[in-house]
Formats: sequence, structure tokens, C-alpha cells
Amino acid sequence: MSFFEWQARFDTEEACKDSLYTEKWPNGFQCPHCGHTHAHFLPSRGLYQCSSCHKQHSVTAETVFHSAKLRKTMGHRDSLYRLTGHIELDDAFVGGEQKGKRGRGATGKKPIIVACESQGNRTGTIAIEAVGRINHDTVDQFSKRKIMPEQSVYTDAFRGLTSFANTQEHLSRVTPAEKVDEWVPWVHTVISNLKRFLLGTFHGVKGKYLQEYINEFCYRFNQRHGESEIPARLLVACTTHLSVKSC
Ligand SMILES: [Zn+2]
Repeated sequence: MSFFEWQARFDTEEACKDSLYTEKWPNGFQCPHCGHTHAHFLPSRGLYQCSSCHKQHSVTAETVFHSAKLRKTMGHRDSLYRLTGHIELDDAFVGGEQKGKRGRGATGKKPIIVACESQGNRTGTIAIEAVGRINHDTVDQFSKRKIMPEQSVYTDAFRGLTSFANTQEHLSRVTPAEKVDEWVPWVHTVISNLKRFLLGTFHGVKGKYLQEYINEFCYRFNQRHGESEIPARLLVACTTHLSVKSC
């Protein structure tokens, strides 16, 4: 299964829960309390009620899926890594209404800072953060958290992005729109993929959960070279009581 096939397969909560059910009870329901093998599904609560002891069970109980911890787990794993080498960095606006003003400051859109390792004809690891606004302070903080010091950071010379020059080798070039793919091509590919992910899958994410969906995108993107192992690896991590801390 490719990165995008996987993304399509697990695009709804139902699809994820069906898959968790199969992982948890591969031979059909078995009550963890009494061992009975028949249950009624309670759709309003999303729980399985044992027909014998009447205890109720959820496919996500005692897993990181419970209380929607999964995206936090993904963010935590990625937060341990800092980008190195030739890095492209840019800002963008995502979310909000699809119609209306485009670009910086469009209604309801949230600013993000995006960085990716450029490895010639491919990208390495990416890092993305939603921020209150793009300014020297937020860009500098992002750089400190996400990029090792003294790397080569390429930008299109937007002034908010120049503040990290004392910790990084900053290579900026004022880039006309038609030349942007020559100077910082990969970061723009990442941004357009992220926009498609947010619109296609979640129909415009509201601000509160934006960083969690961004974390999911980054995690999937950064794991894409081990893509055939992603579903099994994630499901195992999530069904074996792995705590966020130990991820
Ligand atoms: Zn039971």
C-alpha cells in the first residue's frame, strides 16, 4: 500500500475502527471480562456490550486511539528529530474558507511555517508548525526547535524569514513566482500536498485541531519510505497499550 493509498484507506474514523476491531479480535468478539464470544453493538455509544456479563467494551480502550491521542503520538515522534543539510523553508496559509481572498491574511486562514530537507531529486524529512503569526520571533523559535544549528537554509527572502541568520547559514533570493520551483521547489511541493490533505480529508480543518492534523501529515510523510509497514506498525503501537511517553 502506498502513502496515498493508505491515506485514502484510513480516511474516516469508521475505517480506522474497523481495522482496529480486526486487530483486537481477529477471531471475532471475545469479552475481555468473561470470555463470552457474543456482543451487541451499541451504535449511539460506539461500544460492544457482552451478551453474557453485559460489560461494555470499546475497540480503542487502553490504546493510544482512546481520547484521540494518536495524533499527539505522531507529533511527539517527529518532535525528536531536527532537520539537517540543505533545507528549504517557507511560510503559507492553510485552512479556513475555500472561497474569498487568497494568500497572506485571507479570511480564517492560519499561518504555518514549513521546512524540508532537500536531497537533490527527493525530499528528506519535513517539519511544519501552525503559528499565531509569521514574524522574526516565531520563525526563530521554529528554527531552534526544528533545525540543527549551522545548516544551509534556503528561502525566497520574505522578510519574516530572515531572523535566524545568526544560527543558520541563510541563503535567500527574491524569487518571482515563475522561478520559485528552481530555488525552493520541494517546500512548495510539500505545501501543496498538505493543502490537499487538509481539504480532501477533513474538509477544511478548524484552527483548534490544525496542528494535530499537520502532525499526522508530517508523520505519514516522514514515514513514507517504510510505507508498506506503516499500517501494521501504527496499529501494533496503538493496540499494545503503548503510552505517548514511550513512543
Ligand atoms: Zn462478558
